[in-house]
Amino acid sequence: MFKKILIANRGEIAVRVIRACREMGIKTVAVYSEIDRGALHVRLADEACLLGPPPSNESYLSGEKIIDVAKKRGAEAIHPGYGFLSENPKFAKDVANAGLTFIGPPGEVIELLGDKMAARKTMINSGVPVVPGSEGGIENQTQAMKYIGEIGLPVLIKAAAGGGGKGMRIVNSEDEVASAVRGASSEAQSAFGDGRIYIEKYLAKPRHIEIQILCDTHGNYYYFPERECSIQRRHQKVIEESPSPIVDETMRKKMGEAAVAAAKASGYVNAGTVEFLVDKDKNFYFLEVNTRLQVEHPITEMVTGLDLVKKQLIVASGGKLDLVQEEIKPRGSSIECRIYAEDPKSNFMPSVGKLELYREPGGPGVRVDSGVYEGFSIPIYYDPLISKLITWAEDRTSAIDRMLRALNEYRIVGCESTISFHKMVLKEEHFRKGDISTHYIQDVLGGATYEESSSPEDDFAAAVALTVNRMEEDGKVRAQAVAGKQKVNKWKMAFPPGMNRL
Ligand code: ADP
Repeated sequence: MFKKILIANRGEIAVRVIRACREMGIKTVAVYSEIDRGALHVRLADEACLLGPPPSNESYLSGEKIIDVAKKRGAEAIHPGYGFLSENPKFAKDVANAGLTFIGPPGEVIELLGDKMAARKTMINSGVPVVPGSEGGIENQTQAMKYIGEIGLPVLIKAAAGGGGKGMRIVNSEDEVASAVRGASSEAQSAFGDGRIYIEKYLAKPRHIEIQILCDTHGNYYYFPERECSIQRRHQKVIEESPSPIVDETMRKKMGEAAVAAAKASGYVNAGTVEFLVDKDKNFYFLEVNTRLQVEHPITEMVTGLDLVKKQLIVASGGKLDLVQEEIKPRGSSIECRIYAEDPKSNFMPSVGKLELYREPGGPGVRVDSGVYEGFSIPIYYDPLISKLITWAEDRTSAIDRMLRALNEYRIVGCESTISFHKMVLKEEHFRKGDISTHYIQDVLGGATYEESSSPEDDFAAAVALTVNRMEEDGKVRAQAVAGKQKVNKWKMAFPPGMNRL
């Protein structure tokens, strides 16, 4: 096992990795930007090293500096967390070429799976079901029209290099095709430096269900119980749960085996997540593989009792996973709410600031993965995630009730947070019944019902209903809001490269 590793990240995920290392007797080196001098991960690590100014490009995204620090401090491996450099194939290769271990899959695998078009092709060849669409890329309107003839409208034009919902365009009618092709391609070009696009059937109100995989270098492949991540805002997850309310043992096995087939087809090593879309008839289709530890990994840990970060460290150091597939079963139910420093009443615009008062909930079945403390100022430069609040209970309803109890205990003063939004979802009857899809927020919370009521809570719900109805404009509104309120006039400052939400 490693004696010392470097953690190339910040916030809650850096803290999460440090905690696993502590328990395993591994020393940790934290890296940080100037604005993160007092951050929790810096305080908790055994050593810490300044990278540079706050913008990610000059700090958490500077691979060369990070590798240099690792060598100087005698770290043997680098854990990239999620976001930043975690899915950058060049970084993974550079780490290996520097004689260090990258805690994740090999650079070549990240490269293959990071190209969604190449990943789709690999899955088709290995018999994993994919969303109907183009086998390769499309270049123009004529090619798009050819596929539309085959699969019918609506379709989704997607970027090969896509991530964080960027470079995606829904096409509902033929006269939208030309502008969608142009728009998706140019957005992808400017976001990822790669304008390649492809086309997929746009599934009606699917569920997003994903499978955690774990593979060692000795040819062992495992799948874990599914995570239901259908509660999304602007294609980004806000609440996740495991197991899914609609997946039974047979479906779990089928999806798990498809995920393992995907892992084998790509030569996967270490932890990863195979994402699927599931239609109303419970057919599932491959979406993409995330080649890193997932934000929502704690719910899998809660229902299986396994520590995924520790397993990552075992795999990366060449160890064998001593798991038995048949024994990896969900026990009880777990839910995660992502608590953001955002204002749900103002279109979820970032609401960063100093945490004047900060009290995390506790008690039975409650886990808080956070990277902050009272007195800490949440910086505007990075994703404004305050914490992930996770509950576990013997069944889904009890896990939801426990989450409501924990959300009520949470005290945050100094910035707005998404706590009230989560409470609204957790009390809502469709959610409680498990009747959800990726359109849930738009369809259920965006409805007019809440606007008619007059209780303070329902007034709040009405405000949210109005804002979710304006979701299309969200990006613009948010950019302007940030520019005005925080006196930061660049959209880039709030969401710098590498900080797509995951
Ligand atoms: P990104 O990598 O940019 O996040 P994904 O391909 O993972 O993009 O898709 C993100 C979300 O977009 C999915 O969880 C789902 O809500 C929606 N989505 C993607 N592809 C489709 C599709 N073909 N039909 C319907 N919804 C889709």
